[in-house]
Amino acid sequence: MSTTFDLGRLGLTSGEGRRFVLPVGLDPFFFGGERYSVAPEQVDIGLDVARMIGGGWSLRLRFAARVEGPCMRCLAGAAPEIAVDAREVDQPGGGSDQLDSPYVDGDDLDVSAWAHDALALALPAQIVCRDDCAGLCPVCGEDLNAHPHEHERAPDPRWAKLSELRFE
Ligand SMILES: [Zn+2]
Ligand SMILES: [Zn+2]
Repeated sequence: MSTTFDLGRLGLTSGEGRRFVLPVGLDPFFFGGERYSVAPEQVDIGLDVARMIGGGWSLRLRFAARVEGPCMRCLAGAAPEIAVDAREVDQPGGGSDQLDSPYVDGDDLDVSAWAHDALALALPAQIVCRDDCAGLCPVCGEDLNAHPHEHERAPDPRWAKLSELRFE
């Protein structure tokens, strides 16, 4: 899925800006080795376009998307809503001041690629089912949300042996 937006067609003059809302389909992505989908996969994306004085574009992308996949602590379903607010400047023309957005090719803005990358950058360090998810017991693997417990017995000697192993 790819949505490109023709900036040149807008006919903006220097310093002029416009605001749009574009429906954009967002592909699933991998995070922490797990697959997450965007649901619904079509998201209304707010796009601000301004023609800069001296040429080039100043761009802002805003949207909220729900990502669905496993909680990184307990493996149950997680579906946090991620707010995205990203900016790009594309001002070609050489010189040391050149700013070249990877999402702008000529007058074409690749909205899909930008939205996908901006969403990935906006993700929290961990995707969790809820902020206070207790996760799984590191000893027995039990879901600590459902069955909070402690291990008071001495560990099984076989596990003690295992814990001496060092994993690089
Ligand atoms: Zn969880
Ligand atoms: Zn346990």
